[in-house]
Amino acid sequence: MIRKIIHIDMDAFFAAVEQRDNPKLRGLPVIVGGNPKSRGVVATCSYEARKYGIHSAMASSRAYNLCPKAIFVRPRMEAYKAVSVQIRDIFQNYSDFVEPLSLDEAFLDVTMNKMQLKSATDTAIEIKNKILSETGLTASAGVSYNKFIAKVASDMQKPDGLTVVPPKAGERFIETLPINKFFGVGKVTEKKMLRLGIKTGADLKLKTKEFLIREFGKAGAYYFDVARGIDDRHVNPNRIRKSIGRETTLQTDISDKNTIMEILSKIAEQVSSILKRNHKKGVTVTLKIRYSDFKTVTRSRSLAERTDDSGTIMKHVKELLETTDADSKKVRLLGITLSNFSRETPVIMTQLKFPFY
Ligand SMILES: [Mg+2]
Repeated sequence: MIRKIIHIDMDAFFAAVEQRDNPKLRGLPVIVGGNPKSRGVVATCSYEARKYGIHSAMASSRAYNLCPKAIFVRPRMEAYKAVSVQIRDIFQNYSDFVEPLSLDEAFLDVTMNKMQLKSATDTAIEIKNKILSETGLTASAGVSYNKFIAKVASDMQKPDGLTVVPPKAGERFIETLPINKFFGVGKVTEKKMLRLGIKTGADLKLKTKEFLIREFGKAGAYYFDVARGIDDRHVNPNRIRKSIGRETTLQTDISDKNTIMEILSKIAEQVSSILKRNHKKGVTVTLKIRYSDFKTVTRSRSLAERTDDSGTIMKHVKELLETTDADSKKVRLLGITLSNFSRETPVIMTQLKFPFY
């Protein structure tokens, strides 16, 4: 059976909410995020700001240099969450299979036509109209037969876009797709793909599965499939939280190991208390470091037993830290994440701890 999947993504979400709530900001380059003097980053910026080359995750100071007249606004998470509740209520009217990816984005499986509309496209149009009339904000939609294509399609004609890719057009759509538009291909992978001569979906399709797995590990099999328009992942309404982590941008760049360890200890304690509050224990500890030159690295390790203990987390974080350049390069961001909450592996592993005598 052919599925009908819609991906809905609000346009320049945080910035659009700010412009909606403060008419003086309309038509202007608005940056929601940290103050350029306090080493923050851009969370979202308005389309007017994007014309200057500003984008999410850029240092606010750099954004300021690109556009000194930009207006910096502190995030108001409560306002964004309120809109998020509104749009999720709208989604529920059209499908019982809604998978939010973040506050402003979700997949809907509308194969079962809850509102008896003519088509998935009509459904997407109606959802967009409802969002606009109830929140005063625009959203873009991608409509297709799987999650991968729907997600990529929603980004094709922003803002206020609607892109429909029916099954017949799927493979052609992917062939012409630049590799950096692939959902799941980040900056690092993009570089590697380009180095391997893969610029578009068509180039990707020429590679064998064995080659892609050798180069990209497990993700290689995924790339092989999506290059052919194959993505069987379900829209999962009860997606479980896959990781718990915290990170912090430092007041000033530092290279002093003791200070770094102190900050990491505080982060480990925060992560530990969130884990305990959620009754979760993780197997994999990940340390994230962003150097002063913005290069970001992660180091991970899987433990023999699941843990939520800050001391245990720190013991491993300390060893992971040794494998980074944190002693020679200055650091601007530190983070710790625990993931892999599944039960199976650790149970087997604990058995190994049974005494021999
Ligand atoms: Mg968005």
